Amino acid sequence: MLITNIGELVTNAPRDAVSVASPGPFDAIADAAVVMDAGLVVWTGPASQAPAADELVDAGGRAVLPGFVDSHAHLVFAGERGDEFAARMAGLPYSAGGIRSTVAATRAASDAELRANLAKLGREMLTQGTTTFECKSGYGLTVPDEARSLALAAEVTAEVTYLGAHVVPPEFDDAAAGYVDLVCGDMLAACAQYARWVDVFCERGAFGPDEARAVLRAGESAGLQARVHANQLGPGPGVQVAVEAEAASADHCTFLSDADVDALASSGGTVATLLPAVEFSTRQPYPEARRLLAAGVTVAIASDCNPGSSFTSSMPLCVALAVREMRMTTTEAVWAATAGGAHALRRSDVGHLGVGARADVIMLDAPSHSYLAYRPGVPLIAAVWRDGVQVA
Ligand SMILES: [Zn+2]
Repeated sequence: MLITNIGELVTNAPRDAVSVASPGPFDAIADAAVVMDAGLVVWTGPASQAPAADELVDAGGRAVLPGFVDSHAHLVFAGERGDEFAARMAGLPYSAGGIRSTVAATRAASDAELRANLAKLGREMLTQGTTTFECKSGYGLTVPDEARSLALAAEVTAEVTYLGAHVVPPEFDDAAAGYVDLVCGDMLAACAQYARWVDVFCERGAFGPDEARAVLRAGESAGLQARVHANQLGPGPGVQVAVEAEAASADHCTFLSDADVDALASSGGTVATLLPAVEFSTRQPYPEARRLLAAGVTVAIASDCNPGSSFTSSMPLCVALAVREMRMTTTEAVWAATAGGAHALRRSDVGHLGVGARADVIMLDAPSHSYLAYRPGVPLIAAVWRDGVQVA
């Protein structure tokens, strides 16, 4: 299938490469075309040189981009926390404590209810251009509830993350060490089969550095790769723990010391995943993206879609916030929301449109990627293809 007459084709792929195995820097071709076959990108270039194809889509001068890669989302839950949000907007502070109300609702929900909510959110993401998303557990916090959360997540994505170490559940209030043992023991044993990743909320009020290291080590010994919730609510050891563990990503990075920035910059591939919709929804200061970019850190943007601190599934909103509030350029923000997310998930097949990439493609109802920030809040996703099949 050929999409031609594309005003701007964002490829994130080096132009002179014959075949591209992983995302490159931001790059875009004007007056372009893309050919997809058998679920893969097989050709990109100037529209005037496009090969013939069985099926043709005329983009009419609109922009075409890789689908968004949302590398951080908590989608397996029941209930909602609209009142908590309203109270926060009225001046109450955010703390991780509200997670417990979602835990209670999730435990009480049937599989069918959780599955329906997950499907609804997945569909919402897709229609907003997200073609790859990560999904965490973390609202079950018992062995059976974490295992079923991950089994349900595995029905909708390959990027499944075990987050038994989200918060200490109420029944372990006086025995946090016992809960860490459970997370590293029986719970992990029941969960590892469904997950690719292990994550820990390393933060005051959640898990300390030694507990976080224990969780990541246990996960790795069960074949899971590390990622860390780090430095969201204040300065802390999360980023250092993530880099030490060679985590794929340290997520949030809102409060960073110079040593944290240096550690990320000199890490062997720990991405700083920024979640600006959290700061938007909790009225915290935004992460200092420019400081990270200046240091050479690889930056991703993700939604952190969850019912407490960021109940948006919209990557276009996150791009707009990254540009307006974190002073990223439009190209940096779009790269971070596509190729950056792919790096954060250690995926070479998504986040770019080089030859050989998955044909996960979005068309904007706009001539340029910059409209994602220039026209915030406007539904700009005109069409979505996943694996070469139009799905929205
Ligand atoms: Zn999160």
